[in-house]
Amino acid sequence: MRDIVIAIDGFSGTGKSSTAKEVASALGYTYIDSGAMYRCVARYFINHQIDFVEEEKVIKALDEILISFRFNKSLNASEIFLNDQIMDHQIRLPEINEIVSQIAAQPLIRKKLVSRQQTLGLHKSMVMDGRDIGTVVFPDAALKIFMIADLDIRSKRRQKELEEQGIQVTLEEIKKNLDSRDHLDTTRIDSPLIKAEDAITLDSSYLTFDDQVKEIIDLANKIIYEG
Ligand code: C5P
Repeated sequence: MRDIVIAIDGFSGTGKSSTAKEVASALGYTYIDSGAMYRCVARYFINHQIDFVEEEKVIKALDEILISFRFNKSLNASEIFLNDQIMDHQIRLPEINEIVSQIAAQPLIRKKLVSRQQTLGLHKSMVMDGRDIGTVVFPDAALKIFMIADLDIRSKRRQKELEEQGIQVTLEEIKKNLDSRDHLDTTRIDSPLIKAEDAITLDSSYLTFDDQVKEIIDLANKIIYEG
């Protein structure tokens, strides 16, 4: 038996985060949502009216931003904190969705977050989801999954999730946002979203949530127990 890092990358809205969280919980692993870290930076920039093109301000802000994860026993999950303030719905709002991918394309910001993510993964036994986890953050991860799904299906799922949080957004707006984030993520110069050569593609369009989780757990257990 060995402890491994599981990297789950893919397009926006493919269910990476909820899948990764469930896989981690089933394996007794730590789950890190790297997208939430970029969202925290976006939150900080909006709160402090920082434009990501103003390099000096960005450098200063990055020094002031501390992102941490704390395990909440009663939820059996980690929560993310931005400078000691818990972040949940504040980083999921449409205003964050609008700018997060532009912020995530900035090399200075990526450098800081990637280094933080690598430190968090030092002890293995971890599932991290994002866009560059299998290619840049943990190129040696023992299991790499690349999640894809049909854009219409992703948009409907995202709308349902937002509705459950009391946030009303039209299907057209969601589709436009997912599509534009995918475009920015796949075309940026610094660590674009691409499938790692050794990643396994998982198309979640017609899979149930339980099936996609099971598929990853089965693959992980093979590596954990059989090497
Ligand atoms: O995963 P989530 O959709 O919450 O991520 C928000 C944004 O952060 C993505 O659209 C992407 O632009 C960026 N991101 C990234 N690299 C990661 C995780 C997220 O560029 N590892």
